[in-house]
Amino acid sequence: MQRVAILGWPVGHSISPQMHNAAFAAGGIPARYEAWPVPPEQLAAAVKQLCTPEWVGANVTIPHKETVVPLLDELDPMAALVGAVNTIARRGDRLHGYNTDWIGFLTHLRDAGCDPAGQRAVILGAGGAARAVAVALAHGGVTGLAVLNRTPSRAEGVAQAAAETARRAGRSLAAHPGPLEGPEAREILSQAGLVINCTPLGMAPAVDGSPLAGSLEALPPTAVVYDTVYRPAETRLLREARSRGLQTVGGLGMLVYQGALAWEHWFGAAGPVDLMFQAAETALNG
Ligand code: NAP
Repeated sequence: MQRVAILGWPVGHSISPQMHNAAFAAGGIPARYEAWPVPPEQLAAAVKQLCTPEWVGANVTIPHKETVVPLLDELDPMAALVGAVNTIARRGDRLHGYNTDWIGFLTHLRDAGCDPAGQRAVILGAGGAARAVAVALAHGGVTGLAVLNRTPSRAEGVAQAAAETARRAGRSLAAHPGPLEGPEAREILSQAGLVINCTPLGMAPAVDGSPLAGSLEALPPTAVVYDTVYRPAETRLLREARSRGLQTVGGLGMLVYQGALAWEHWFGAAGPVDLMFQAAETALNG
């Protein structure tokens, strides 16, 4: 039996084990996906264990996505741009680090009928999810990007990662940091084609939160609103955007695609997206 684990702290809330194990069972893959609670001081030892032959690889989640990077033997260039690893694949006795959050987000966004090419996008938040989304949008060809954050100075690094991604793709991108609230934020939002929430605001159990509680009406009627939060499936942000007639997209698809695309690094082909989506929904609702 081959093994895959998700390394996080805490990790009990993760629905990745149900999602991957359902797909392993359906595909007749002799593998087991385990949740591994790994406190920060034990991360290096846990990663070392992945070097033995029964391990295919692992996923990495909060709070280890950045601190795991120096513990790996090889780093994929896109993971280096994001500055975080969410997928590890063992090749012989070497561990390779990848990031499938960015491509998972981009694939789901396009799947939902929204092509970011040529758009002006606004990211709310400047943490790990925001960095993955920024790299994805730059790779996907946005022409303008604002990163609005409670702590604007933190948004600068995210904007720089996006600009560097565009530069490497031979494009130029105007990417700027900004505040999450106030007149400047409203002005930026009024020109947005696409807005992505990368803060935890609205996530269960604090479902009354919204990153645009006082400024949703600033968005133009053509804006698409994406929420990376997927618990609940429709956040306050998405509910209010939908009642204004805006197109909305929930974040469960990003989770499913990052998982399905991790299979490419473990097994050489993507996982079964529809089946994994159903398993993830069942795990969330159960
Ligand atoms: P993170 O690194 O901790 O970053 C959180 C960001 O949210 C920071 O920019 C922070 O601002 C901001 N923030 C936090 N609380 C806030 C508040 N009360 N008001 C205003 N801003 C606030 O977290 P992360 O890893 O980026 O994850 C963020 C969210 O993304 C998660 O909660 C999760 O729901 C979602 N996510 C979804 C997926 C998916 O597959 N769908 C994947 C990853 C993450 P400061 O810089 O000012 O602290």
